[in-house]
Amino acid sequence: MRLSQVVRSGPNQYICEEDAAKYLEEKLADFKHPVVITGVKSYKAFQEFASVPETWPVLRYDHTASDKNMAELAEKAGDADVIVGIGGGKVLDTAKGTAELLDCEVVLVPTIAGTCAGYTPLSAVYDEFSQFSHVAYYKRSAYLTLIDLRILLHSPVEYLLGGIGDSLAKWYESEAITRNMPSLPVMVELGLNSAKTIREGILRDSEQAIKDQTAGKITDAFRNIVEIIIGAAGTVGGFAGEYGRMAGAHAIHNGLSFLPETHSILHGSKVAYGILVQLAATGDLDEVKKLLPLYQKLGFPYNLDTLHVTENHEAAIEKVAAYAAKPEESFVLLGDYSKEKIAEAMKTIEQLAMEKTIAG
Ligand SMILES: [Zn+2]
Repeated sequence: MRLSQVVRSGPNQYICEEDAAKYLEEKLADFKHPVVITGVKSYKAFQEFASVPETWPVLRYDHTASDKNMAELAEKAGDADVIVGIGGGKVLDTAKGTAELLDCEVVLVPTIAGTCAGYTPLSAVYDEFSQFSHVAYYKRSAYLTLIDLRILLHSPVEYLLGGIGDSLAKWYESEAITRNMPSLPVMVELGLNSAKTIREGILRDSEQAIKDQTAGKITDAFRNIVEIIIGAAGTVGGFAGEYGRMAGAHAIHNGLSFLPETHSILHGSKVAYGILVQLAATGDLDEVKKLLPLYQKLGFPYNLDTLHVTENHEAAIEKVAAYAAKPEESFVLLGDYSKEKIAEAMKTIEQLAMEKTIAG
């Protein structure tokens, strides 16, 4: 049985506190040779608020999250009995892959809250030229996930925003995949309930969390959103497995990559737009209307103009829909959606967004 089909409940230990990094040394007291893997910027961010013992070697990753770099780092880490990843998603993915090669434990200390990489036992692996290669699933989950809210508070707010968009999709994508299934295994239901908690938490707290981070304040709203993005999002796929996968919203995101105007927009923001198109395709227009005001407040794109596509809307819609409807893309997980249907959904969003903007 493949690891991707196995229920993965989460890290062995999980701590999220204002100054959680202070526990690092004490938590690793049983290990003989901890080795840190980090990046230049991320280590600087970490060191503003915390430190590791001088005896722990510190290795830098090469920004690729590639098999090649993981092998080089494993070679350098030598007799490490625990790898401590300190950084963003690519650093943590590199640390996990390196620990797997060394067959040792891994500790994850995220320095941005943009993805669930600090929680999940898998990595997005790229080749040495930064082209996506595959997702690697590991036999060990993290020994410890340590979320230090002070470090995250001082990270760029765009990451939190991107994380919100990507996490919000967890509910809409998993709900759409399972909507017509007569019954679900209880562990899958747990994953879907996580997704529901994520949606409710985002609707309730995301606007406040962005304000609080901008104002430099650690609040309940900020903490909730951080834990939604890193922890709760990681449990959706962990419990729901194939039912918690990416679906329509990510297919639209992938289609958008063919429009160069959208390249500067964050992954999670493009996924957020994809949620609207998916909802229009499945006929859930009331939900679209509920989300539009939040999108406008958060600054998420909600039509082609806000995606920076200002000319040739017809051609842009055609391109994105044709790609998203491909049989190897994830829109098909929701049922039979032709490129005409998806294009129609994009046009519906254009229309609704315009009505909403006029209505204020
Ligand atoms: Zn995503």
